[in-house]
Amino acid sequence: MADEIAPGIHRLATDYPHVCGLPLWLHVIDAGSELVLLDAGIASTPESSTAPELASLGLGLPDLTLVVNSHAHPDHMGGNAVLRRHSGARFAAPALEAGWLEDNERLVNELWGSDPDAMALSDAERSELFEMLDERVRIDVLLRDGDRLPGERPLQVITTSGHSPGHIAVLDETSRTLFTFDDVQGRGRPYLDSSLWLAPLYTDVERYTNGLTRLLALDFDLLVPSHGDAIDATAGRKLIEESLDWVTAVDTLTAGLLRTRGSLTVRELADEIGTELGAYGGINLQTVRMARAHLEHLALRGGAEPRWHHRP
Ligand SMILES: [Zn+2]
Repeated sequence: MADEIAPGIHRLATDYPHVCGLPLWLHVIDAGSELVLLDAGIASTPESSTAPELASLGLGLPDLTLVVNSHAHPDHMGGNAVLRRHSGARFAAPALEAGWLEDNERLVNELWGSDPDAMALSDAERSELFEMLDERVRIDVLLRDGDRLPGERPLQVITTSGHSPGHIAVLDETSRTLFTFDDVQGRGRPYLDSSLWLAPLYTDVERYTNGLTRLLALDFDLLVPSHGDAIDATAGRKLIEESLDWVTAVDTLTAGLLRTRGSLTVRELADEIGTELGAYGGINLQTVRMARAHLEHLALRGGAEPRWHHRP
């Protein structure tokens, strides 16, 4: 049953907890001439969850006029193709990620295949991803920092570039509700069905911290993440601070390991982050991308020397 988190904004449940063991909420906003859906879920979400959730509000998928993808990860845009089939909605997404949003091969190769020595997808994992992604849909409205979403309601786009290179937040100026989607990650999130945690994910340390700092400066009463419950401003600011503290912790770990060991591979650092800083399950997409981001960050500041060596 969809509940109203602020006037004209309803939170919709999804099938994601059953599929991937994490909460995932979508939101529908009455923006006057536009009925806006924030994020699409995975391929199975629109029919299994979004349609019945909308029905509880007396609405249906055909009523949607605008679908916004906060970033190009499967749980936020995999439902696009089904939504297109059931509605005349236009699709809006960060201009910076249009390439990933319109090309599954490119997304999977560049995100999951960036560090083949550290991590490689099995065939089963690859086909699971493609199943969640479904067919790609052309993005009609390319969003840039400072844009307003179409409609009469002042919905401001803020490019945070943290969790993924073009990631956006959306601020509803009417109710001072800040949708941060996956950008405010704290120390990660516990899985619903195991004792493990999902680690934070970001690909550029500087961009992640700059984006978080921008969010901290905004006026908001409610912070709404995709994979957790909405929280008030005090708790929201605390979570942003915790996200920044996490970055410092990984930086300290990276510099310390390099000092004692002399050299470090992405895989070695990912394993340390994924075991030493918490129960993150060692090597995975999140820890590998963070390891690489922090090594690059250190190299840019002159604290490490990137080297390649010949493999016979
Ligand atoms: Zn997500």
